[in-house]
Amino acid sequence: MSGIPTTSLPRINADRCTDCRECIPVCPRDAIIEPLNVCCAKCIKYCATLEVDCKPEKPAISVSLCDGCGLCLDACPVGAIEWSEADATGSAGQR
Ligand code: SF4
Ligand code: SF4
Repeated sequence: MSGIPTTSLPRINADRCTDCRECIPVCPRDAIIEPLNVCCAKCIKYCATLEVDCKPEKPAISVSLCDGCGLCLDACPVGAIEWSEADATGSAGQR
């Protein structure tokens, strides 16, 4: 046990998400970020530690803006948004 307090925050399962973007306008805190039209292939070959997120094609939730209201889970038609434990650093991760 790490002793780091945890809290539940939503996370988008990128494998299930269809990129319909219905969740984005529902969020009262603008915490769901539209996918960037970024091609990570341009930089990943220079990233020795493979820290480049190569799934920019799906929305992502900003854990620093999200207050965990849960509205986006109800809005997602395919159940792609799930509760996830985030540690005290606010890191919930994305799939
Ligand atoms: S509503 Fe669900 S399927 Fe649509 S973009 Fe949001 S997470 Fe993806
Ligand atoms: S839980 Fe609420 S605040 Fe957080 S992303 Fe979903 S709608 Fe936005």
